[in-house]
Amino acid sequence: MKSLVRELKLLCDNFPLTEKIIIVDSFLIGEQINEAYNLQGYHSINLKFKTAFDLAVETTELHAISSGKILDPTIAEQMMYSLLEHLKAESRLDYFSGMEITPTFSKSVYATIRQLRGAGYTKENFPFDAFLSKSKADDLHTILKKFESLLERSKLMDEAAVFLTASEFVNKRDDLVYILQSNLQLTYVAEEFIKQLLPENTYKLPLAQVRGVQTVEKSGIRSISWGDTSTLSYIYDLENAQEKPELAYFTAKTEELEIKEVLERIKSSNLPFDQNVVYYTNSESYVTLFYHLAQQIGIPLTFGEGFPISFSRPGRLVSGLLKWFQTNYSVQPFLDLLQEGLIDIGDEASSKGKIAGYLRELQIGWSKQRYLVKLDEEMRTLEKALETAEKEEKMAHLTKQLNDLNWLSKWFQAIFKRLPEYDSQINYRSFLEGIAYLLRNSCATKSGMDEVGKTTILDTIEKVLPYANEVLSSYEIVEKVKDLLLSLRIKQSKAKPGHLHVASYRSGVYNHRANVYIVGLDNRHFPGTTSEDPLLLDRERKALGRNIPVLQNTGQENLYLMNQLLAHASGPVTVSYCHFDIHNNRAVSPAHLFLQLYRYGTGIHEADFKELKNLPSYLTARKVIENKDYWNRLLSDESKKVLDSELLSHYPNLEYGLKSEKYRQAPEFNEYDGFVQVEQEALDPRLNKEERVSAAKLEALAKCPYSYFLKNVLRVRPIEHIEYDPYRWLDAATRGSLLHSIFEKFYKEIKVEKPSVKAHENTIQTIAGKLIDRQKVLIPPPNERIFAKEVDDILACCTIFLKEEETHSKSYRPLHFEYAFGVRDYEPAVITLPSGDTIHVAGMIDRVDEADSGDYHIIDYKTGSTYSYNNRDIFKGGRQLQHMLYALAIEQHLQLESGKVQESAYYFPTVKGMATRVTRKQDDVVRTNGLDILERLIDVLKSGTFTMTDDENDCKFCDFKAVCRRKFYDKDVLDVKQMDQNFEELRRFKGVRAYD
Ligand code: SF4
Repeated sequence: MKSLVRELKLLCDNFPLTEKIIIVDSFLIGEQINEAYNLQGYHSINLKFKTAFDLAVETTELHAISSGKILDPTIAEQMMYSLLEHLKAESRLDYFSGMEITPTFSKSVYATIRQLRGAGYTKENFPFDAFLSKSKADDLHTILKKFESLLERSKLMDEAAVFLTASEFVNKRDDLVYILQSNLQLTYVAEEFIKQLLPENTYKLPLAQVRGVQTVEKSGIRSISWGDTSTLSYIYDLENAQEKPELAYFTAKTEELEIKEVLERIKSSNLPFDQNVVYYTNSESYVTLFYHLAQQIGIPLTFGEGFPISFSRPGRLVSGLLKWFQTNYSVQPFLDLLQEGLIDIGDEASSKGKIAGYLRELQIGWSKQRYLVKLDEEMRTLEKALETAEKEEKMAHLTKQLNDLNWLSKWFQAIFKRLPEYDSQINYRSFLEGIAYLLRNSCATKSGMDEVGKTTILDTIEKVLPYANEVLSSYEIVEKVKDLLLSLRIKQSKAKPGHLHVASYRSGVYNHRANVYIVGLDNRHFPGTTSEDPLLLDRERKALGRNIPVLQNTGQENLYLMNQLLAHASGPVTVSYCHFDIHNNRAVSPAHLFLQLYRYGTGIHEADFKELKNLPSYLTARKVIENKDYWNRLLSDESKKVLDSELLSHYPNLEYGLKSEKYRQAPEFNEYDGFVQVEQEALDPRLNKEERVSAAKLEALAKCPYSYFLKNVLRVRPIEHIEYDPYRWLDAATRGSLLHSIFEKFYKEIKVEKPSVKAHENTIQTIAGKLIDRQKVLIPPPNERIFAKEVDDILACCTIFLKEEETHSKSYRPLHFEYAFGVRDYEPAVITLPSGDTIHVAGMIDRVDEADSGDYHIIDYKTGSTYSYNNRDIFKGGRQLQHMLYALAIEQHLQLESGKVQESAYYFPTVKGMATRVTRKQDDVVRTNGLDILERLIDVLKSGTFTMTDDENDCKFCDFKAVCRRKFYDKDVLDVKQMDQNFEELRRFKGVRAYD
């Protein structure tokens, strides 16, 4: 910056009182130049910084009487989207006729039209010949024509129109001194305007020389004026370099460690934050990390490019609302909004926990209507209960619940009025208005950044509303809102006193902070290349000329920019990169510039990439910046650590964890592996006759005693949400019980008649139709297509069932359906175990048939897969007991003679199951073995030896994987534990597995 400041000083001295205008690319650059000038102790009078666009606007406003309003780019993109939709609907596009009009596509088209107009091309002088495809040229001409007439009709002026209008009225001003920034980024129309504006004598601010890097040729007012060289002018001209640069380099395993190392170096330098600047090559990787770290440890930071809007609560609220809408207003995304504190439902509402409880209990699942219907139903139920309640306490409780639900229902009614139905054609404007309503009335803001986020979103919506006329599908509307609102950035800032500034290197050419850190100098992010733009290929860009950039030069431009930044650096420079890509689990190489800087700094000109591997690299932060750095350091150091008791006393959970780890690694079976001191009188059904066993519970116990303990003793439950699935109507359990109901109702309807396809096809289909309709009211399908598909499948299952029943009924007749015992008011079945003790059993048998022989045959409908059932494995190591238990239970319950039930069958009357019957003969061996299994399992309950399953296949679909952490056991240790000689019951349990 020395040459630049010197030149500016000269000009200010030569024209002390004359108005001096420096034409810059942006105000930020203007401010940077001004600060660099002032920092040298210089001051000026009448020095102004203006962009070419400011000057054009001033000229237009001064002279053009009927100039229109300036077009905002957000509105322009919206207008382009609508315009393309119209052209497509009217079949006026040829080359782009197959393209879906998405926000991304319309944005790209707008960028192309903007470039063409910036190059001075209009519908009159459209350069058809520059395009490789005639139909593309025709389409772009049509779009351009339409866009121009839209601007005219709406009395709007885009940037090109402003420059063209200004050019008509521009006057040269000899009374002003114009000074140009070097390397001005001007479109063709801007350049033409500036050319007309400038008097004979103009001046240009020089840049420090960049040696050995080719710059893209620019002439005239866009050219670069070269000043003196600096130490870092010679990065690519090492032979001629004369001074030793102040360079430092390091690499890190992750980007997080990279920025922590930067902070550590800043700290050790003892320099104030505002004498340092960090430039990154990639915003995504570094901005988030810097932001979170700054939040945690309170470093004052300014961000040149700001943050994504999603860092603010309003941004997250919009994102959550879109998810809520996309899932057809499923309860869970709403609860997420509530629990994260993003949606504010007012002080009168009951607690978040209670609301979550109500919404889950009511089994709302999804859809706007279901919230209101279910809340209403529950309120009616509560009102009835209130009428009959006698105790005051009960009445107060019911009244409170009623008030809560009433309030909730009104709140949802108000909200849903503003939000569209899912899966309908939606008016874009109303949708945006709905979001704005929620932001104004229900958005929780807790910081200045939240307020900025909210205002930014509301302003953007306000701008677009007058042009948001289209009707879109649910999918399109979500994409459009995401593109409009979630791509916003907030809190862009210049470097401020007292703050460390973090920005893209592209904005760093005029930096004047002494200490520069450049992070992300790896070859993925720097110099970067841009692939061809299919809308304007490089060959077409070259043919079009007129300052339209050629994308193949992007890498070269970036390299020059970075070198220019370095050439201007006045103090030490530290460069770094992250040498490992965690997401793709692979090593990352440095950028060539990094190597070149290394060669320059070390003086080893022949150094190659291999040598960079010796650079300092950190696996953990060198100094503790946040808590986890301390622990990471301990973890990465392989030497054995003993955490002293004083330290552990501050972390009781850690202490528990270490203890449990120790016990879990011990060979003995202990309380950390499922050994529980139980109250035998309560858990053992032989002692506690109130404790009724069921087939499902016993099978679960046999599958994994530990999961039984979690579920039935500790009563741990996973939170169950009914989730909206756009590709499915009924979950497996609901579909199964619907089929059960159809089969039961069918037999009840035909009474004593034998089922026949010919006679009863209509009957079963009608029954199915009615029950399906009832189910549809309870659970609305995501759409009619999915509904029709699932209905077809259910009807096909009915046909399969009927056919199979026709054959089956030749030798059997049904006696009982849904035969219950031990549930509701039904007496339990009593089964006598080999020890002579009895247990009480509860259950519900789908069907009991009588064979021609007079024997009984138990049927259990299965609507899932046949995978786990075969004719060989009778008990599957205790996991299939129902067939035997039901045989014993019904014989006792109906007071039948022993052996009356000859068979139990698992019956699969479904399309996938192909009416398979897996039959288990209930002979003496099966009964004897089955009873032995029961006794052994009940001994597990009595002894509290809730060991984990010995077969990891049982864990595949287990809800408790995250709780039990079986996979952390060493396999051999677990085997030893499960055979612990001190526990006879463990071996008895192993004996259960012996029964195939
Ligand atoms: S994950 Fe496996 S061991 Fe753990 S509770 Fe579930 S079935 Fe048992």
